[in-house]
Amino acid sequence: MRAPIQTAETICVGTELLIGHTLNTNSHFVARQLSLMGINSYYQTVVGDNPDRLLAAIRSASTRSDCVFLTGGLGPTADDITMAVAARAADRNLTLHEPSRQAILEIFTRMGREMTDNNLKQAMLPDQSIVLPNRNGTAPGCIIEFEQDGADKTLILLPGPPSELRPMFLEQVKPYLVQRTSRILRNTFVRMIGIGESKAETVLKDLIDSQTNPTIAPYAGEGEVMFRITQLAQSHDDPDNTGPLLEEVTKRAGEYIYEVGERKMHEVVADLLVERHATLSMAESCTAGLAQSMLGEIPGASRFLTGGLVAYANEVKREMLGVPAELLEREGAVSEACAIAMADGCRLLFGTDYAVGITGIAGPDGGTPEKPVGLVHLAVSDANGCETRVMRINGNRARVRGVAALNAFDLLRRRILG
Ligand code: AMP
Ligand code: MG
Repeated sequence: MRAPIQTAETICVGTELLIGHTLNTNSHFVARQLSLMGINSYYQTVVGDNPDRLLAAIRSASTRSDCVFLTGGLGPTADDITMAVAARAADRNLTLHEPSRQAILEIFTRMGREMTDNNLKQAMLPDQSIVLPNRNGTAPGCIIEFEQDGADKTLILLPGPPSELRPMFLEQVKPYLVQRTSRILRNTFVRMIGIGESKAETVLKDLIDSQTNPTIAPYAGEGEVMFRITQLAQSHDDPDNTGPLLEEVTKRAGEYIYEVGERKMHEVVADLLVERHATLSMAESCTAGLAQSMLGEIPGASRFLTGGLVAYANEVKREMLGVPAELLEREGAVSEACAIAMADGCRLLFGTDYAVGITGIAGPDGGTPEKPVGLVHLAVSDANGCETRVMRINGNRARVRGVAALNAFDLLRRRILG
């Protein structure tokens, strides 16, 4: 029986990370997963494709942590050294792993390409390791369990591309870690909108301060607030005891809660539309398609998103959406009246059950004392009329656009729910 994993840290390998060419999202992903599992992580390292420095990094990481994640450097080329260096750190030899060779060969056959000799390198794996097949790429990952100075240590090697690493982690590494940890955390996420972070904390402060198990902790979000309720269970059979705390939170802040779970705002809205067999179109000015692009990330979005348009220019608002010229003249393009006319016109144009109009000043230029940067008007139109929201959003252009889209979805959500 190997000692439980209580601490873990990550070493991301790749010169592209060190020089700022690639954003290190693997550290972020793994860290978040570890935190959700209650595995403590006190260090993160990035190291270039250099065997000596990587070996030194592994040695010091495995001195202080039970488990070390290594991401990247599992490719077929000469600069991909992670497997060989990790094997050396654990004092293991690399041998050809026949099932991995077969899997790689199959990928090449499927692509109609010749497998070159250097691809065989990806099937060279440390003796006595747990091989993690890669269903999204050629490089298998692996888990090496070894001893260092009499202590149980674990190296977990994962491919660099996030599209390969993430499913491998969730499908194979997570179940392994569950077996190897003694702590069992049950997490419930409560997502809120329409309440500021400080207000939310004030409303829940005594709960945050006094709860020991389960605990509740706030997380800042962009234009929204999230709380994580965490129960530390003694065993997997321990009953879920997060109910009363969740109930108390709902009692105090229920009107702001849009999701208890993992879904984001636009996913909640998408599910509502699908449930009701309702269709949606969007006319976006300052967000220029951002809201629709968010919906586009959801598989099956075409079931509810009929169409929409980017309506920046006044001519487009007039001629495509039928916003009256005199309205634009009188109220301006960033106005409640214009948002309503955009939503109504969009619903007519696309023949949908719901339509959203978004117009605002994203900045950094274009603000006036009456209509400052960050002013956004939102409208939702359906057969029964229109609902609007006005926002004054702080921050840069990206934030203004993101929070505008988020609130457009919230307005739509509330309208759908009645
Ligand atoms: P490698 O496994 O080193 O060949 O990495 C393949 C690709 O994965 C790199 O070109 C990057 O685009 C990506 N990648 C590697 N490490 C990371 C990381 N820590 N975060 C995000 N992407 C990464
Ligand atoms: Mg690399």
